[in-house]
Amino acid sequence: MLLTFFYLASAMRKLEDTYRHKGLRKKLVDSLRDKGITDENVLEALNNIPRHYFLDTALDNIAYEDRAFPITDGQTISQPYTVAYQTQLLQVKANEKILEIGTGSIYQATVLAELGAKVFTIERQKNLFEKTKQYIFKSKYPNLKFFYGDGFEGLPTFAPFDKVIITAAAPFIPPKLIAQLKPGGMMIIPLESGGHQRMLRLTKNEKEGYTEESFSNFSFVPMLSGRNG
Ligand code: SAH
Repeated sequence: MLLTFFYLASAMRKLEDTYRHKGLRKKLVDSLRDKGITDENVLEALNNIPRHYFLDTALDNIAYEDRAFPITDGQTISQPYTVAYQTQLLQVKANEKILEIGTGSIYQATVLAELGAKVFTIERQKNLFEKTKQYIFKSKYPNLKFFYGDGFEGLPTFAPFDKVIITAAAPFIPPKLIAQLKPGGMMIIPLESGGHQRMLRLTKNEKEGYTEESFSNFSFVPMLSGRNG
């Protein structure tokens, strides 16, 4: 009885977005602005999403530090700065079709959904994909769809996409993902380059090929081929 009470109390605590959480989140967003994120729509989206819902309750107190954290299955929830940086480069507009590789904690996908995009996100780890079935914002974001598969293959059935965002360290530029982009479409990809990853923005040309812009270095978990589980 008492145990049930504590269990329920802790489960409810997790789903509470207190003034304290909101205050810490506002501070985090201000710090991202200080670090050079300028897109106010992106900052507002981060301010609207309770990041602590995406983490283990044990991390509740530090959920609003600008850090990556472990989730299950040896994977990570990206650092807020990285999420903001990639999202800003993607120049998201409402109703765009966006393919995300690496669902992980669903935090990045939620940011894209909050910005009004139609989000298709793929995860290769069965356990993480299974968890998406309990996604707490399912009814808030009917524009977010989950897929179990290998991101190198993309989602040919739903192509073409306006944008593609890869949230794991890519060993090379996946040709099938370029093929699934609309002409004029963009891909944000952290490309492996000697122990870290260089953030690239590729814009698909109207006729053939793509143009490449290069940004800062980041550190991601590896993009692996095939499904796991
Ligand atoms: N966007 C996530 C980041 C998670 S870390 C978030 O906001 O939390 C990267 C994720 O990419 C991991 O969950 C990993 O399992 C997944 N991943 C790695 N290679 C993949 C592939 N080929 N296809 C799909 N997902 C992949």
